Amino acid sequence: MAAIELHRLVKRFGDLTVIPALDLAIRDEEFVVFVGPSGCGKSTLLRIIAGLESIDSGDLFIGGQRVNDMPPARRDIAMVFQDYALYPHMTVRQNMAFGLEMRNTPKDEITRRVERAAAMLHMAPYLERKPKALSGGQRQRVAMGRAMVRNPQVFLFDEPLSNLDAKLRGEVRTEIKALAQQLKTTMVFVTHDQVEAMTMADRIVVLKAGVVQQFGTPEEVYQWPANQFVAGFIGAPS
Ligand code: ADP
Ligand code: MG
Repeated sequence: MAAIELHRLVKRFGDLTVIPALDLAIRDEEFVVFVGPSGCGKSTLLRIIAGLESIDSGDLFIGGQRVNDMPPARRDIAMVFQDYALYPHMTVRQNMAFGLEMRNTPKDEITRRVERAAAMLHMAPYLERKPKALSGGQRQRVAMGRAMVRNPQVFLFDEPLSNLDAKLRGEVRTEIKALAQQLKTTMVFVTHDQVEAMTMADRIVVLKAGVVQQFGTPEEVYQWPANQFVAGFIGAPS
């Protein structure tokens, strides 16, 4: 069974059709990267999967269940955004615990999950710090930890590395890949960076104007691009 399935999915903003009719099936435990130029609909697609954006027609299935009208909080999904959106007045621990407290998770269970995520992310020494006392890479890890403590079946990432410098981006990229393997969850990762797509993905979705140009392994997309657009986009330096 597919982890995430889109059937003839259509999304419009007023007169603008951002996604004309999309079919896609993402497997359980797969690491899929959506790549494409700015404005092609990557964020919109992620937001639709997360339930933050409605759809005009078509169907969305998560874990085999049709979730077209299911509110975000009930979906077994956690999203990590580009800007992290940490609470500045809360410590790392409080930032990571907040979502679970909202769900009335027992206190000792929250502590257990936060400390486990912090250990996996090498953030244990920083749990009592506030975001302003952290580096960019550490803030990114807090955002990741906040998603991890929910134990979601699916992680969605919207360009989570784009605020990091090149060296750190490489490091965090490797860490996210390692975490994906440990956690055994499905990951959908959005980027406009071809290198990121090629190095992280099990399979890449190349998007142009809301239309899938190719869905394949990095090797397939690189060796056998489906069209000129894919060839130019994957071949071009980032
Ligand atoms: P990407 O993430 O690939 O850069 P987006 O999904 O953010 O692209 O945007 C796709 C298109 O939809 C763009 O043309 C953008 O301007 C438009 N768009 C996104 N969100 C909205 C919105 N809330 N209202 C109107 N247009 C939007
Ligand atoms: Mg975007």
